[in-house]
Amino acid sequence: MGLLIYLNGKLVPEEQAKISVFDHGLLYGDGVFEGLRSYQGRIFCLEEHLQRLYWSAHGIMLEVPLSRQALRQAVMETVKANKLKDSYIRIVVTRGVGDLGLDPRKCPRPTIFIIASKIQLYPESYYEKGLKVVTVATRRNLHESVNPAIKSLNYLNNILAKIEANHAGADEGLILNHAGYVSECTGENIFVVHGQVLATPPVHAGVLAGVTRKVVMELGRSLGLEVREQNLTRHDIYVADECFLTGTAAEIIPATSLDGRPIGTGRPGPTTGRIRQAFKEKAIREGIPVYETE
Ligand code: PMP
Repeated sequence: MGLLIYLNGKLVPEEQAKISVFDHGLLYGDGVFEGLRSYQGRIFCLEEHLQRLYWSAHGIMLEVPLSRQALRQAVMETVKANKLKDSYIRIVVTRGVGDLGLDPRKCPRPTIFIIASKIQLYPESYYEKGLKVVTVATRRNLHESVNPAIKSLNYLNNILAKIEANHAGADEGLILNHAGYVSECTGENIFVVHGQVLATPPVHAGVLAGVTRKVVMELGRSLGLEVREQNLTRHDIYVADECFLTGTAAEIIPATSLDGRPIGTGRPGPTTGRIRQAFKEKAIREGIPVYETE
């Protein structure tokens, strides 16, 4: 049975969930999105994701056509309609239908849709052996252009980086910013462990303020680590004890080599393991219940 998709206020079967070829989300990548997860019937970090969606929309002067309360409700309804417990949820808001010019003033009504489904970015074995990462030549966007803090539908830069990583036979691509500092991977934030220090690049290094990143920084502190947001070079990763990536879809995944050099022992490390475990427990415990609100 196919999925039920929330599209502009209605739940429709996926075969009927169609948008116009004149939608500027499609024609120009003019829109924003969010990716969330539910664990055991609870949506994890719902408010943080909604907040970032509204900020992303504000950043491109797009009005989300639902109040925060109505959107929260729509997300819940979509998960419920598909009877999902463990799910991946995608919210997309586009500028809507316009003409063939790019002027957003010609798009009177934003399009909004929500997909509640499943996702597995990497097979389970990758969480046990870790990812092979390579530095790609594609640089992170400048803040003055499409700010990387906006989760916009313009992911081509990240896709080009992913293609480079694929061609190099790697699992992920490490993207540097214009100054040569580490920003993030194509769809995940990056962390390194040096002894008792857990470090990740600051948002101004050109990273998305990841929701998982924030949770991991909190978990790191509660596990007694010194958590730092600081500029990192590739050298900091080469000499790290451990390295891992974070994202809603990927969750927490070890990275065990960079540019063909093993990181630490070349195997997922104990601190990454402790953080992964703490994250799993928190995700199950702290989400907003979907099914107990009726
Ligand atoms: N960086 C980029 C470029 C992303 O697209 C994402 C989300 N897929 C992340 C980092 C991780 O963010 P979050 O933990 O909020 O999913």
